[in-house]
Amino acid sequence: MISAEDLAQLVTSYNPKSNSDMIIAAYNYGREKHEGQFRKSGEPYFTHPVAVAVILAKQKLDDASIITGLLHDTIEDTESTKQEIASLFSPEIAMLVDGVTNLTKMQLGSTATKEAENTRKLLMAIAKDMRVMLVKLADRLHNMSTIRAMTPEKQAQKARETMDIFAPLAGRMGMQSMREELEDLAFRVLNPDGRTSILRRFITLQKEAGDVVENISTDMRHELAEAGIDASVYGRAKKPYSIWRKMQEKELSFSRLSDIYGFRIITKTEADCYRVLGVIHQRWRAVPGRFKDYISQPKSNGYRSIHTTVKGRDGKQVEVQMRTQQMHDVAETGVAAHWSYKDGARSENPFTVDPVRWIRDLIEQFDTEEDPTAFLEAVKL
Ligand code: MN
Repeated sequence: MISAEDLAQLVTSYNPKSNSDMIIAAYNYGREKHEGQFRKSGEPYFTHPVAVAVILAKQKLDDASIITGLLHDTIEDTESTKQEIASLFSPEIAMLVDGVTNLTKMQLGSTATKEAENTRKLLMAIAKDMRVMLVKLADRLHNMSTIRAMTPEKQAQKARETMDIFAPLAGRMGMQSMREELEDLAFRVLNPDGRTSILRRFITLQKEAGDVVENISTDMRHELAEAGIDASVYGRAKKPYSIWRKMQEKELSFSRLSDIYGFRIITKTEADCYRVLGVIHQRWRAVPGRFKDYISQPKSNGYRSIHTTVKGRDGKQVEVQMRTQQMHDVAETGVAAHWSYKDGARSENPFTVDPVRWIRDLIEQFDTEEDPTAFLEAVKL
């Protein structure tokens, strides 16, 4: 477990104006309150809120979010109160901790209609301040990664809830890596055999075809250099769950599934995204119907990128995304980018969306929706 000083140091590394004293005080307060409590795994309970705070620090969030991470279970599980937190730290932090407590107490059911109701309830609960959901997602991520200590029934229930409610919500908030991690952890519980078989196929494929990601990346870098474009190429195999979902949707076997690899090209300027697109389409054949320009038509959560799918020599398809670094930051952290810090100032990324407006639009959409399950489908999509 990271020490109070190291946590404060971690936050200062991206936010030099962070109030280290207050972070250390919150750490010590939380440790004292949870003293004598243990997790199912046998570890001291306080290791959990600390892990949550670290997840939030990795997203470069503000002090209030980090402290809320440290204290998020105090009202629920100790004799600490909202008033005490307000007077010791700040009314803002007390409000956030209270918000997370209310989310935790919310009974989330599993039937389709209840799910829709719950999603709406969740949205209403976070409407005042979305940092409540950022802390809740970090809480869920840590709980899912330590889920093995729970009973099989509890594991299945948490995994289902994560797959049905929290992962889609993270996606909707534009937090792609959070979504993928949650999905993968839930998939591990819900379908361990499916996941293992996909991982095995990757190993076989690698033996047959070599390091496909490395080979294609090298080709792409070469083409870009030829064209005189300064850009970085990143390739990866898609996550087992997203491959499994595609296999279900398209009713394809693994060997017939085309795009299991994804590539990302990060450019210096927006104009370069289009130049890269030209280079890629000149070298590889574009697959019809797969081109999307989210730069000229951004998504409502602020997501911008150009997507295309191309066919390689062997007929295998790969997906390619082109975006600038700023667009990339928003694509990874989504609405959370609004609260992220850089060099002591809130990051002034021109592509972040105002979370208050974003969530209001989403709730409005819900209110005009007759059938709550239709709304849920919209959220999931
Ligand atoms: Mn917790």
